This record gives sequence, structure tokens and C-alpha cells, in this order.
Amino acid sequence: MPQDVFTREECVLLKARQELSLTPLVGKGQGRAQPFLAEFVDEYDRLLRHTRRMAGLGDRMQRTLNELNQRLAASEEKFRGIFESVVEGIFRAEGDGIQARLVEANPALARMLGCAEPKELTDRRANVGMLFANAQERDHFGRMLAQDGAVHGFQAELLRPDGGRFWAQLSASLLPSEQGATAGGPPCSMVGVVADISERRSMMEEIYRLARTDSLTGLWNRGYFMDLGQREIARCRREGQPAALIMADADHFKLVNDTHGHEAGDEALRCMAGVLGAGVREADLLARLGGEEFVVLLPGADATMALAVAERIRRGIREKRLSCSGGACFCLSLSLGVDCSPQSTNCLEQMLRNADAALYAAKHAGRNRVELYQGAA
Ligand code: GH3
Ligand code: MG
Ligand code: MG
Repeated sequence: MPQDVFTREECVLLKARQELSLTPLVGKGQGRAQPFLAEFVDEYDRLLRHTRRMAGLGDRMQRTLNELNQRLAASEEKFRGIFESVVEGIFRAEGDGIQARLVEANPALARMLGCAEPKELTDRRANVGMLFANAQERDHFGRMLAQDGAVHGFQAELLRPDGGRFWAQLSASLLPSEQGATAGGPPCSMVGVVADISERRSMMEEIYRLARTDSLTGLWNRGYFMDLGQREIARCRREGQPAALIMADADHFKLVNDTHGHEAGDEALRCMAGVLGAGVREADLLARLGGEEFVVLLPGADATMALAVAERIRRGIREKRLSCSGGACFCLSLSLGVDCSPQSTNCLEQMLRNADAALYAAKHAGRNRVELYQGAA
């Protein structure tokens, strides 16, 4: 508090006290002016001290307010810095759900969505729903937001102005608006964070693809075949359709490796995968079971159809001539077992066992041939 604020009042008080001390005491009952004046001066003194305390309090409040304002400005600056520089997109929207109007976005979100600056984004996209590429995902997001007031880690494809799409992870929360909070009204403001996860998604997809496929031939592997095959068989059963299974094994393949080398063996396996792929329909499920063994599940096929497919594959392999790096040529042959027995078509494992038994019979009968499972002998 400035020192001279109450100087004048202090002077007046001092003067009054001096005047009082100079005035001779008035005798009892000879007048009431002097005691009244003394009382008045005391009261003035008390008021002056009270005012001084109030002014001091006001000063301290002002200082606290100034400090708070400074801290608020610093924290706002910090928040602004984060808002402007983070790699995640941040937006603020006003209104309800996916219809909420985009009012603020940071530069990262603008860049993600193909805009030069945030203003361009908020001008172009009227509401939150317009960020989504897919109406189903947009509506699902809106429903979750309405139900829980917040959505975390929601994955969806977002739209760029050129029509391009990218995978993003969104989190958003509804906040009570200032008017809503004071009037006890509904929440109608939203903040959201958007992360571009397209790279992570494609890596995950690649890992998923690698986990399903055989790296040498590019065919499905045993694990994925078992998964898909069981589902296909269940579907055939529901729809009252037959199903057939062909198991194929390269003949004397060990000899191919021993004679022409492992690389020639690998090339022969790729060649077999190509012939098998060309011999089956799109609806059929072809996989490398392991080693030099392949399998085909033919949904909807009866024994006649399956035997025809197996025979076509056998012939296709037999007609191939493979050459290895040393210049030598060699031929391959396949033995194939087919199962289409109605009692086994409910169960993939049983079909595999039956086809394997038929394959064993084909090997036993001289190889390079097709055998149909005939039931337990
Ligand atoms: P059979 O007619 O009775 O089936 O005789 P086979 O020689 O084909 O059968 P066997 O089970 O004795 O040998 C299979 C061979 O397949 C042995 C193995 O080295 C070879 N093989 C398995 N997987 C691969 C592979 O990925 N690459 C190569 N080059 N060879 C493989
Ligand atoms: Mg084998
Ligand atoms: Mg073999």
C-alpha cells in the first residue's frame, strides 16, 4: 500500500489531538463540547485504522489476483504450445454428438486432414461427423458418445479433401458448456484427440497376413486353413451342401532335394502351389499343410467334382518340367487322397484323417494317382 494514501487523514487526526490537549478541561456540568469532541476524534482514529486495514486487505487481494492472472497466462501459453506442436490432432467442437460444429483445431489435425491451416479445416468441415469416411463408423462413434459421454481409442477411417482415407484413432469427451452448466442444461461441447494410425494399421495387417500365410508358397498355412475350413464346413452343414477335401503329397520329394538341391526343391514346391491354385475355384480353400503336403477344401463339391479337380491337378503337375540352376530338368508327381463321405463332412479333422488314409492308399498303389476314401475297411 502506498505510504501517503492516508497522510491527510493522519494530519487531521494529529491536529485534532493537539487541539484537544491544549483546550483546558471544562468543569463538570459546564458544557459537553469537549468530551464529545474527544469521542469524535477517537472514533475518527478507529475508522482510519479500520480503513487502513481494509485497504491493506484490498492490496493483498489485488496482488494475489495479479499472481493468479500471471499463472493463468503462463498455463495458457503452455497449453497453447502443446496444442500447436503435438503430433496428435486436437479439436474442440460445439453442439451435440457428430453434429457438433468444429470450432477449433490444431495444426497437426489440419495437416492430417489435408488442410494447410486449422482455419481451412474448420471452414471446410462443418461438423465432427464430416471427418469420417464411413457412415457406419460415424454413427457408431456418435452412439457411443451419446451413451457414455466419452469415447476412447475408437478406430475409424477419416476422409481427406481429395477423397483419400486414412486410419485414425479418436478419443473424445463431452463437456458441460458454460451456459449448460449454469442453466443446468445438457452438455454440448466436445474435445477430441485424433492420432494417425495408418502406419501401425498396415504393420498390424502385414503381421496378421504373415501369421496366416506360408512364406515359401504364399498359400494359407495350416493354422489359418483349420480356422477358415471349420467355418466353411459349418456353413455347408447349415446350408445342407456337401463338401470335399483333397490332400496332396509330392512323390519321392526327398529324392528331388537330394538330387537337385534344396533350392530346386523349394522352386518345385512353388510350382506345385501354382498348379494347385490354377486347378481350384475361387470358393475353394487351398493351403500348404506343411513340408510337401497340400490340402484343398471344396465347399459344395460332391465326389465326382472333387475327383475331377484332383485328377486335373495330378495331370497338371505331371506335365510340368522343372529346370534347376545346373541346367538339369526333372518332373514331379503328386499322390492325392479325396474324402467326400457324408458322415465325415461335419468335421474337418475327420475329413483330413480320411483324405490322409486315401492318400496313403494312393502311395501304396504306386503313387502319381488319385484315390477316393471308401470308408473304414
Ligand atoms: P513319399 O513319396 O513317400 O511322400 O516320399 P517323400 O520323399 O516325398 O517323403 P518324405 O516324407 O520321406 O520326404 C519329404 C521331403 O520333403 C523331405 C524334406 O526335406 C522335403 N521338404 C519338406 N519341406 C521342404 C521345403 O520347404 N523345401 C524343400 N526343398 N524340401 C522340403
Ligand atoms: Mg509327406
Ligand atoms: Mg512326399
